[in-house]
Amino acid sequence: MTGMVYLVGGGPGDPGLITVKGLHCLRRADVVLYDRLIAPELLYEVPLQAELIDVGKEPAQQRYPQSAIIALLIEKARAGKIVVRLKGGDPFVFGRGGEECEALVQAGISFEVVPGVSSALAVPAYAGIPVTHRDVARSFTVITGQTADETAIDYAALPRQGTLIGLMCVQHLAEITRQLIAHGFAADLPAAVIYRGTTPEQVIISGTLQDIAAKAQPLQPPALFIAGEVVKFHPTLNWYEPTGHDYADQLFDIREDLQRMGA
Ligand code: SAH
Repeated sequence: MTGMVYLVGGGPGDPGLITVKGLHCLRRADVVLYDRLIAPELLYEVPLQAELIDVGKEPAQQRYPQSAIIALLIEKARAGKIVVRLKGGDPFVFGRGGEECEALVQAGISFEVVPGVSSALAVPAYAGIPVTHRDVARSFTVITGQTADETAIDYAALPRQGTLIGLMCVQHLAEITRQLIAHGFAADLPAAVIYRGTTPEQVIISGTLQDIAAKAQPLQPPALFIAGEVVKFHPTLNWYEPTGHDYADQLFDIREDLQRMGA
């Protein structure tokens, strides 16, 4: 009997932001293949006997090439397992979820997609930045800056109105903001970089398009870049208070202890 693959969006970092349907999938899983950016607390919801496979990719060292992830999904499903492919945020937002589904269709394996709360929306929300606001921003655009060369981001095509949200932009932020200004974005447009938004480690640095790259330079990925008039709401609407504690490692230890004890 062939199994089933659930492509589940795990949300942006706060484990409470997974969907009810996503949580149901995790609680029924035989195998979970998870990414680097998922909330580690979510793995605590998986049955203890289930197999957990960390296919997370560090930016520098590709631990599992995409082809190996796909091969694993197919292998486990063919063995009759309920497989959860747990991805950060939403599986179809810069998550290669589409490619994984295409491969499953080709292999004749049943799958379902459980959308997730994308960091593109949730991270600004936790920073008190509404991505749209009547009269201030009536649209938003989400870009990826994984490569900073001009062909990757079509600067000329970006709307000058509305909010600009950038994922995977921080490593090339100086070049990206320079290009935005060169293409007609106001140098004094409010901008911010948010590191590990929605988690206890959240850090926000705000400024303008002109100075945000220099100010936010200490922040490493994962971080989100946002530019637009809505950023000015941050000081007044900033409701979330990160604690600065990170419990993730402890949870992994507890899970291993329980497994050893045969619980
Ligand atoms: N599918 C994911 C995005 C994957 S790309 C989603 O929908 O959220 C990974 C990028 O998302 C990171 O490099 C970073 O730019 C952004 N990101 C993900 N989680 C984040 C977080 N908690 N805080 C800030 N940025 C985050």
